[in-house]
Amino acid sequence: MTFDQLGLIQPILKALKTEGYTQPTPIQEQSIPIVLDGHDLLGLAQTGTGKTAAFAIPILQILHNNGGNSKGYKHIRALILTPTRELAVQIDESFASYGRHVGLKHDVIYGGVSQYTQTASLRNGTDILIATPGRLMDLMNQGYVHLDHLEIFVLDEADRMLDMGFITDVKKIIREIPEQRQTLFFSATMPPAISGLADSILYKPQRVEVTPVSSTAERIDQSVYFVAGRDKNALLMHLINEHRITRSLVFCRTKHGADKIAKELKKNGVNADAIHGNKTQNARQNALQNFKNGRLKVLVATDIAARGIDIDDLTHVINYDLPNVPESYVHRIGRTGRAGASGIAFSFCNGEERAYLKDINKLIGQKIPAVGHPYEMSAEAAASEAPSPKQQRPNANRSNRPNGNNRRRPSPSPRSNS
Ligand code: AMP
Repeated sequence: MTFDQLGLIQPILKALKTEGYTQPTPIQEQSIPIVLDGHDLLGLAQTGTGKTAAFAIPILQILHNNGGNSKGYKHIRALILTPTRELAVQIDESFASYGRHVGLKHDVIYGGVSQYTQTASLRNGTDILIATPGRLMDLMNQGYVHLDHLEIFVLDEADRMLDMGFITDVKKIIREIPEQRQTLFFSATMPPAISGLADSILYKPQRVEVTPVSSTAERIDQSVYFVAGRDKNALLMHLINEHRITRSLVFCRTKHGADKIAKELKKNGVNADAIHGNKTQNARQNALQNFKNGRLKVLVATDIAARGIDIDDLTHVINYDLPNVPESYVHRIGRTGRAGASGIAFSFCNGEERAYLKDINKLIGQKIPAVGHPYEMSAEAAASEAPSPKQQRPNANRSNRPNGNNRRRPSPSPRSNS
């Protein structure tokens, strides 16, 4: 299947050629005709499957064919609601890329920065608005945004909206948009609250489902490194050097941890920075930009900050800490190996994290192979770091237990000796 066979107009085909896209991904192949036909869509797909283009391309085509780029004030005709600022910026960039020859105006609004540039840009109206819920509500209440001419509404990452506590805002926004509209609803998972919302806002939707969360992991080369918490930094440096890693996303659980890892890497001469919720939006965008253009070798991130980050040619994802929610593991490693490319994921696992590893293996339906290395954790050290039965799961939200200082530091055992 080619993009030509999907009946796309020349200005879009030309842009896709510039992007180097040769054929549609499965979600695009299935969704584009449905959207072009004017149907509502329920898309079960996560970031990394090409879902942005699956809605952006037909939206550009519909708006272009049906009204085009009229002069004068532009009413908002398409709204894309997405949970994080990073995703909003990324979606806006996608509209810029795919729509470069279409001539429609698009704008992005998100919180954490001054609203001034956003409202200034909206002054003459826009065709397509990409927004996070909080800032959109804010600007609607201030009278900067009017949605009464809306034709297409996209709810992106609906399950994440629920996780992040935005669902009430989302429902309020939906009450403000015209009932007569086309709705595209995307979610990686379908918990009851989300399927209830989908039922209430979609009209006779066509359902499209691609790569369930547990199978995305299959095309990524995964391995686990058993290591004591205190040796994780040394192991990280070792892997960066041994594998000559030039662009890697490193995940950890806490904001403080992210800063500490980035600092340690810099001390060792590796260009690194951290992104997390405590950093200003500008600091996050700068770090992301530097990472994308190759100035940074390593970007250290927490789960929320990294959600949906789209970096081409990301070869390695390193889980410095294992996530306590197994689905996060799949989301994390999905940052590499995008749109069919292959990728590599290394995961560090200390004694406390073995229970998390078990849950992850269960979710992905395979045992991630362990790899020998110079900082390998002895069985004795693993047992001393492991939580006592009382502290063990299923309490997934338990906090990190500080390492006891009476534990013997495991001596690095070079691989040749093992
Ligand atoms: P998304 O799931 O929308 O975040 O997209 C994941 C990545 O796949 C992005 O880097 C896109 O630029 C890329 N991508 C989307 N569609 C295609 C395609 N048809 N061919 C190649 N890459 C694509």
